Amino acid sequence: MSEQVTSAEAVRVRFCPSPTGNPHVGMIRTALFNWAFARHTGGTFVFRIEDTDSARDSEESYNALLDSLRWLGLDWDEGPEVGGEYGPYRQSDRLPVYTEVAKRLSDGGFAYHCYCSSDELEERRELAKSEGRTPGYDGKCRDLSHDQVEAYEDEGRDPVLRFRMPDRDFEWDDLVRGSITFGAEHVPDYVLVRGNGEPLYPLVNPVDDALMRITHVLRGEDLLSSTPRQIALYEALAAIGVSDGTTPRFGHLPYVMGAGNRKLSKRDPESSLLMYRETGYLPEALLNYLALLGWSMGDDQEFFSKEQMAEVFTLERVNQNPARFDLKKCTAINGDWIRSLAPAELVQRIIPFLIAKNLVPRPPTAQQLAILEVAAPLIQERMENLSQSVDMLAFLLLPPERFVVDEADRGVLGVEAAPTLTAARSVLAELPHWKTDAIHEALRLALVDGLDLKPKLAFTPLRVAITGRRISPPLFESMEILGKSVCLARLDAAIGGG
Ligand code: GLU
Ligand code: ZN
Repeated sequence: MSEQVTSAEAVRVRFCPSPTGNPHVGMIRTALFNWAFARHTGGTFVFRIEDTDSARDSEESYNALLDSLRWLGLDWDEGPEVGGEYGPYRQSDRLPVYTEVAKRLSDGGFAYHCYCSSDELEERRELAKSEGRTPGYDGKCRDLSHDQVEAYEDEGRDPVLRFRMPDRDFEWDDLVRGSITFGAEHVPDYVLVRGNGEPLYPLVNPVDDALMRITHVLRGEDLLSSTPRQIALYEALAAIGVSDGTTPRFGHLPYVMGAGNRKLSKRDPESSLLMYRETGYLPEALLNYLALLGWSMGDDQEFFSKEQMAEVFTLERVNQNPARFDLKKCTAINGDWIRSLAPAELVQRIIPFLIAKNLVPRPPTAQQLAILEVAAPLIQERMENLSQSVDMLAFLLLPPERFVVDEADRGVLGVEAAPTLTAARSVLAELPHWKTDAIHEALRLALVDGLDLKPKLAFTPLRVAITGRRISPPLFESMEILGKSVCLARLDAAIGGG
């Protein structure tokens, strides 16, 4: 039996997604835990791209993966664009390696050619089921005679390469789930290489883990059933001199559940990483939330950076129970992160969203930056995501010809509002000091005292006229930022039926 790595050995972990579709949060949670474990132990975080399935993999998805990890700040020590001693790190660039290993496995008797067609396999599976047997591959081609092989070859069949599973149970001490055993009958011989020569995940993944000297495999629980196969393959790889004889430790991270107690699926909108980025979740917040899916700080602390996580990250604190993905909680944590930013930093984070909506140019003017620095703290308190800043700040940035009162709130500016707006306009026109307090005081005197209006009744039409909406950042501060002439012009427009 191969030895398991000891803690004294330098940790090498890997994140090895397949570039299909858009990155999703479950995959990022796996990346984060591996990253944190590597950083905590002073080990190496390897990023490998498992792109041997040319029908499903895409360059677009590959780029999205790299871009996402960079956006999140999950830096890798070896991998694409970074290089490393054990490269290349894209499996599509390693095909000769797999061909060679497959040949050695076959020569050594650890794998054999299987000529069964998929129809034949299906038929036998059905038969096994109907007879109450476990419906895995039945070993039919394990020991074909020379004549049988020739007959199949003459028929023009392309054989797959199958791994010969040892006929015994497999057990390992899972880093998260403790002792796990798979009975031999549940791990049938499996396909390593397709008939067309394409090597498959069950081969390439452990081969690269061995060649890249991976010490700990931390991955989702959905891969649990491939672990006994991989342990068996590792033993064969040691026998043919591909691995150094050590088998990595395995730890299976708990499922992430979505709504209705189903596993969160790639198709659920809240699983798309892109959605968070486009909506304006901070990468810090998203990682913070994902860290809580199956791990905890231990002292009920739920607000922390990935660096703080890495500082204390141990596998003992990884929970084996399924974690529930809660978008509300994720959003609340994002709000906390937004509030933790210094105003200048918040402005920098908001700017891309304003640019995307054509509210400021790239880069914004000095005057716009000044406006944003004053305005950002005003909305910081109630922001849940950065894209909300667009609606909240538009009225401060729009040129006169693009400013419009929100359709839904236009009713507030009907005829009955006219006296209030007119009174406000005349007192503001006379105001010598255009400052928040002075504006507030003048309007209070003119409207609340002068017209005997309740503050809410007095200020709502004013707010809609000036900001374009019934709900806005604080009114008098906003008026100071906008300046006197803009405010008077907006009041004129509102009084004029605007
Ligand atoms: N490429 C595999 C996947 O994305 C990696 C699984 C593993 O970590 O072993 O599911
Ligand atoms: Zn067969």
